[in-house]
Amino acid sequence: MDNKILRLVITAPFGDTVNTLYPTLLWDDNNIILVDCGFIGSLPTLEKELEQYGLTVERLTGLVLTHHDHDHMGAAAALKRANPNLKIYSSQTEAPYISAQEKPLRLKQAEEMQKILPTDKQDFGRAFCDMLRRVEPILVDEFLHDGDNMDWCGGCRVIATPGHTPGHISLFMENDSVVITGDAMALEDGHPVIANPQFTLDLNRAENSMNKLLSIKANAYYCYHGGVYSKA
Ligand SMILES: [Zn+2]
Repeated sequence: MDNKILRLVITAPFGDTVNTLYPTLLWDDNNIILVDCGFIGSLPTLEKELEQYGLTVERLTGLVLTHHDHDHMGAAAALKRANPNLKIYSSQTEAPYISAQEKPLRLKQAEEMQKILPTDKQDFGRAFCDMLRRVEPILVDEFLHDGDNMDWCGGCRVIATPGHTPGHISLFMENDSVVITGDAMALEDGHPVIANPQFTLDLNRAENSMNKLLSIKANAYYCYHGGVYSKA
């Protein structure tokens, strides 16, 4: 079988607009690995997305979490229940927040912000904190380190891209010259940008990380927020 790098689509209403996410699927003879898995409650959508390729959640071998944000790991615990053999990967730095052995940094940040929010934003802030508290933690089975080479789809290099969160990782698919950015880079009006700068925990490091990814000169960048960026 040819190696396939597929982009899945998850949408959810967000105020008056729609929030679209693009998890990636790495599929070769031995592995079917999902990279990030959407919001809390995204499992049925993921099932439908896999179905169009003749796949099921039970056939997934792994789930890579680029970082611990709710829109990336929201469905992880539900996926693991549906497929207990699913192997969960993340960086070592991010793992304690994914498993909630330490209080997730995003929740900490949201709770701090809540204290200084203007009155008219308090309800929104409270709802956001409540949603973050509903994210089900999950244990990470294997750590991915900067520079690790996985044999997925003919070669997958792990790239540490800290900034958005301290342990954020991206993946470089060497055979296809594709970078899976996670939130180290997003696309806005066709331009690479820092994802959600207002939530970015360390903006300087995030900028360095985005530049590091752009310096790879890959053919395509699969952005979780915004879609595919090609420099050509
Ligand atoms: Zn995100």
